[in-house]
Amino acid sequence: MTATGRAAVFRGPGQPFEIRELPLPEVEPDAVLIRVSIANICGSDLHFWRGDAPLRLPADGWIYGHEMTGRVARLGARIKTDSRGRPLEEGARVAYCYFYPCGRCHACLALEPAACPNKIGRPLGPSQFPYFHGAFAEYYYLRPGGAIFGVPDTLPDAIVASVNCALSQVIFGLHKVGLRFGQSIVMQGAGGLGVQAAAVAKAMGAAPVIVIDQLPGRLELARAFGADHTINLREVIDRKERIALVRQLTGGAGADVACDFVGLPAVIPEGLEMLRAGGTYLEIGSISRGVTVEMEPAQLVWGSKKIVGVVMYDPWVIPQALDFLARFRDRLPFDRLISHTFPLEKIDEAFRASEWVNRESTSITRAALVP
Ligand SMILES: [Zn+2]
Ligand SMILES: [Zn+2]
Repeated sequence: MTATGRAAVFRGPGQPFEIRELPLPEVEPDAVLIRVSIANICGSDLHFWRGDAPLRLPADGWIYGHEMTGRVARLGARIKTDSRGRPLEEGARVAYCYFYPCGRCHACLALEPAACPNKIGRPLGPSQFPYFHGAFAEYYYLRPGGAIFGVPDTLPDAIVASVNCALSQVIFGLHKVGLRFGQSIVMQGAGGLGVQAAAVAKAMGAAPVIVIDQLPGRLELARAFGADHTINLREVIDRKERIALVRQLTGGAGADVACDFVGLPAVIPEGLEMLRAGGTYLEIGSISRGVTVEMEPAQLVWGSKKIVGVVMYDPWVIPQALDFLARFRDRLPFDRLISHTFPLEKIDEAFRASEWVNRESTSITRAALVP
């Protein structure tokens, strides 16, 4: 009898997930089989579920999800240490990348693995080896070469779950735009990305940190994570007034850095206008291909503004994220980031509860599955 594990298979927008029992894969010498402890539902997962991100689904469905943590279930024969060179054993708690820079392209050659166009392959179906391709399952197969890091005992799983996505994503994004001590930053969106970015920006010495959203609960959380000022879209409904407010809060200049953490391209022109001359716009949220927005390039030219797009991160970021959590876990309410947990079978309910578009309010910050 072969060992098996359960996985939630996505059959397309508007359709329920299908819970399936799959065989555990034979672990290749440089791979690691991980028993998933917690898998969060990330904003980008919602795009696929909602159907606003075009997707070519395999015929037998897709196991997705990427924001997760777990324990080593089986180590490949050649793996003795984590990616920092620290001893790694079966049972160890780990954080890891869910993408695989190819090492054989111009971006990889330029030592920019996060920019590798091959780091995420086509979606694979559950019948294709190694079966466990995503977080919404009992197991995740870390493919050969995947970066993996031991997790300090002091950090609970619920806090570590966002390390390999939201937290590492914002640390890398703020690194890419060169955010420096004393610079002002405005963040559009106080979901998982925005809230954690507020904490990271604050720790980097940014001031003031301004966060914009339409849900009061999220703005309150952003303040708890270090935002100096929050702007509620529903209270300041005029776009010109919001831009003027940011200008006023930044000494009349506009922000050094502005960020899209919403994922709706419509917010981008406003964010660009909030920048000071010479400022930098960080684009992380808008992952849906085919969605466009009208903008005025002359604004970039006359304002000497830059737009920096970032998807995922270089693997060195994960240990920095873990160390950041270890330093700040007593000072910041990380335990509030996951507000609801669901067993794997309740994945449909978990997605419905996470949906925030067209909602008046939501009490959910992040839903997590405990498979
Ligand atoms: Zn994510
Ligand atoms: Zn590459």
